[in-house]
Amino acid sequence: MRRTLFEPEHEALRASVREFLDRHVRPRHEEFIAARQIPREIWIEAGKQGFLGLLIPEEYGGGGVADDWRFSAVLAEELAAVSVAFSSTFGIHADVNAPYLVELTTPEQRQRWLPVYCTGELVTAIAMTEPSGGSDLAALKTTAVRDGDEWLLNGAKTFITNGFSADLVIVAARTDRAKGVKGISLFVVEAGTPGFTRGRKLDKVGQDESDTAELFFVDARVPHANLIGEQGRGFIHMMERLPQERIGAAVGNLANARALLAETLEYVKTRTAFGQPVGSFQYNKFTLAELVTKVEVTQAFVDHCVLAHVDGELSAVDAAKAKWWTAQVQNDVLDTCLHGGYGYMNEYRIARAWRDARVTKIWAGSNEIMKELIGRDLGL
Ligand SMILES: Cc1cc2nc3c(=O)[nH]c(=O)nc-3n(C[C@H](O)[C@H](O)[C@H](O)COP(=O)(O)OP(=O)(O)OC[C@H]3O[C@@H](n4cnc5c(N)ncnc54)[C@H](O)[C@@H]3O)c2cc1C
Repeated sequence: MRRTLFEPEHEALRASVREFLDRHVRPRHEEFIAARQIPREIWIEAGKQGFLGLLIPEEYGGGGVADDWRFSAVLAEELAAVSVAFSSTFGIHADVNAPYLVELTTPEQRQRWLPVYCTGELVTAIAMTEPSGGSDLAALKTTAVRDGDEWLLNGAKTFITNGFSADLVIVAARTDRAKGVKGISLFVVEAGTPGFTRGRKLDKVGQDESDTAELFFVDARVPHANLIGEQGRGFIHMMERLPQERIGAAVGNLANARALLAETLEYVKTRTAFGQPVGSFQYNKFTLAELVTKVEVTQAFVDHCVLAHVDGELSAVDAAKAKWWTAQVQNDVLDTCLHGGYGYMNEYRIARAWRDARVTKIWAGSNEIMKELIGRDLGL
């Protein structure tokens, strides 16, 4: 079905993202997987092309298109067609963190961070999850205590995307123990901050090319000038921005499923068994027909959510629906890839994609938590 949400200017961005990926990323993908990290020169190249600063005002070197999130959706789609690791690694920086660093910062902070954010000289991460739990964000334990012009941070974060390589981490910490969700604030912690250290790159089931790490804060001295947003409103700041993170995840999940499903459709036309293409068996034909239907029907809902987000009308509940459903559809597609034994070999994209996709049902709020949000909205 023809999609109607994109205009020629979005397709122009798509063409340049594809060219960047074909030239700089696809030929070196195996190298990034082996290094378990995306090298900085790729970030810098993405920055040169303007992909990192789409949501940043032009005065700070960005693209200034924050009012049209379709540009971000195009970027997420093209990155996810390579791998979910790319859409998440770049997405955390360029899409998830942008509203925090633009909307919650002072002019001085924006001047300090945004120009280098756009060029890729400064890579960012966001740290909410802790070893003791991520679903119940309100229960986070990392503390921040004021000490003159500084805050002393103590605690740990885990599973942080870009955590190993980030130069700047947005950290959620408890500034007032007595105030529950109203006692959480957000800090920018920069690399080199005394008392801030990182663990090793975590050994994940998939997404090898994306670095994920634990972060430790032991009397980490963070200047008061690095507090972002309103003190005590950190939880609300995160809740307000999670729908964009979740629709971004949904867009990536579905684009990844579409790309791998298209490759599977080619494969089943050429791979034969019992003297005929494996795709021509009625069972497989029906299975693939069901998956294509699921993907296309889902695309209509996701596109509708994207447009709602552009209009500032995407609800947290609709973002939750899009996020869990696309994660499920993506995993259904990748579980049914019909590549036989080759689908279990890492040299086949389908195998890696299957491993990569395990986490889309978990991160940015698990499928259970998404359904909890939807259930609450039903008054249950
Ligand atoms: C590769 C990767 C990258 C990540 N990147 C980041 C990042 O950049 N920044 C960041 O802050 N976090 C990140 N995360 C963390 C992620 O968001 C959390 O893993 C997720 O929110 C779940 O938290 P948890 O792992 O602590 O599970 P828990 O909260 O311990 O939950 C355990 C299980 O219980 C279920 N559960 C919990 N509460 C309920 C409930 N009320 N009803 C039903 N079931 C429930 C959960 O769904 C889950 O299945 C990342 C995780 C991974 C794996």
